Amino acid sequence: MTNIILLGPPGAGKGTQASRLEHDRGMIQLSTGDMLRAAVKAGTPVGLQAKAVMEAGQLVSDEIVSGIIGERLDQPDTGKGVIFDGYPRTAAQAASLDTLLADRGQALDHVIELEVDEDALVERITGRFTCAKCNEGYHDRFKQPKAAGVCDVCGSTEFKRRPDDNEETVRTRMAEYRAKTAPILPIYEVRGLVKRVDGMADIDVVTSAIEAILDGR
Ligand SMILES: [Zn+2]
Repeated sequence: MTNIILLGPPGAGKGTQASRLEHDRGMIQLSTGDMLRAAVKAGTPVGLQAKAVMEAGQLVSDEIVSGIIGERLDQPDTGKGVIFDGYPRTAAQAASLDTLLADRGQALDHVIELEVDEDALVERITGRFTCAKCNEGYHDRFKQPKAAGVCDVCGSTEFKRRPDDNEETVRTRMAEYRAKTAPILPIYEVRGLVKRVDGMADIDVVTSAIEAILDGR
């Protein structure tokens, strides 16, 4: 069993890597939002508490979040290990996570951060566009259609770009990411748990690097 925290800014491919770990290793990705919704829906003891708090318009406390994670860790599908996504966010939550895992005879094995070069990420994201008809993906710099303005796959001449694929949005998201991870990264750095992987590399290269960390290579 391997328990990790996976960190990475939007565009670093965190979702892809997490699904590969689920598929290849049977690990389970746990995001607090999903867990909270599932617990409320399933009507678990902590889920019912959370529901009452949310219906009263209040924020769900750390204690309730811990309770929900604990309930989730006790389900049998987490036997191969879990990937924490978006949790912990604070020193207090990091301490709770240690307790939750220790209570179950487990520990946090690695904190893996997919690193990106911000300027390169801006170029990667702002340059992408897709065929409006068949959705084939292209890029201004890295993958132009073979005939200018004509989709390689379906011959369409209509392309589209996502409105949020712009520089300002990318830089704002990077700043948000740094602000969110700043409280916890130093805690895990001190413990030697933080491993960095180049999130700008090819998807398969990133996967291999993560596997090497998990296998202790
Ligand atoms: Zn097309």
